[in-house]
Amino acid sequence: MFRLEEDLLEGEVVRRRARRVLIQLPEGLKRFAFRLASVVERAGAEAIVSIDPCFGACGLAVDEAEVLGVDLIIHYGHTPLVQSKIPTVYIEARMDLELKSLDSVLERLEGCRRVGLATIVQHLDALRLLRGFLQDAGFEVFIGRGRRTLYPGQVIGCDYGALRSIDDKVDCFIFIGGRFHGIGAQLSTSKPVIVLDPYEGRVYDLRGEVDRVLRRRWASILQARGAGNFGVIVGLMPGQRNLSVALRAKKLLEESGRRAVLLSARYITPEALAGFREAEAFVNTACPRVSLDDSIRFERPLITYRELLVMLGLLEWEELCRGGWFGE
Ligand code: SF4
Repeated sequence: MFRLEEDLLEGEVVRRRARRVLIQLPEGLKRFAFRLASVVERAGAEAIVSIDPCFGACGLAVDEAEVLGVDLIIHYGHTPLVQSKIPTVYIEARMDLELKSLDSVLERLEGCRRVGLATIVQHLDALRLLRGFLQDAGFEVFIGRGRRTLYPGQVIGCDYGALRSIDDKVDCFIFIGGRFHGIGAQLSTSKPVIVLDPYEGRVYDLRGEVDRVLRRRWASILQARGAGNFGVIVGLMPGQRNLSVALRAKKLLEESGRRAVLLSARYITPEALAGFREAEAFVNTACPRVSLDDSIRFERPLITYRELLVMLGLLEWEELCRGGWFGE
């Protein structure tokens, strides 16, 4: 179902006279690695495929490319997010979707005349189809814009500006995509978000699940409040590096009488943190979704910078719950 745009890939390698190419693929596209490497080789370059996890364009493999002497990075599945010293081509891997379950969507739109639409880059074509369908059915349709995204209506795991920017104009949202981004979308607004999930082939809402996430986040903040020693994590991925925020977090913790040590990480995992026995809690200034989605896997609280502000009484919990989870 993915459009891998092999002609574009081959053409870019030839046009740029690349000699060595690094291909980065999200998990769902790694099964095409050999096929895409063949395209690069056919175009006359050496192909190297990164096996590291690739969750977003925040993880653009600039450092690896430099170490390997690569002169072109091909990054699949995301849109540009960071500056790159090495020429980079983004291939979005859009999906050809047949929109099903539209009757179930209409059933859920009772009392909702003004509808906001959002999706991930793969389904932007489906978003346009859905807009036409809803307008023909008499709905007023709105599409917003994010801070870190390229297209109207597009979201990524840490930017739901496409919803927030039109929050006051709509009665509800329809989000085309899966559970992970659907949870982020519902966290970003107090309006109902109807998820049209092309992977599970059904329509659902995630308010129950988001309530559980909120309860866990509140419990983590309370637990962290009792901690004296903090590890403050600064991310090493190009689009997750936020040293100034990490330094601010450390200063705030010290001003509150706590001890804080900066820790650097490419990937934040329970195993990576397990050895730091002195830390009673961690502040994560890298990818916020690790804290929001994976907290159950961590044995000690792993709060975001904005949750730290709540913990210290500098931000209202209600402000976070009104959709303020993402951003500084
Ligand atoms: S920081 Fe996290 S949520 Fe944002 S793009 Fe990167 S992996 Fe996705």
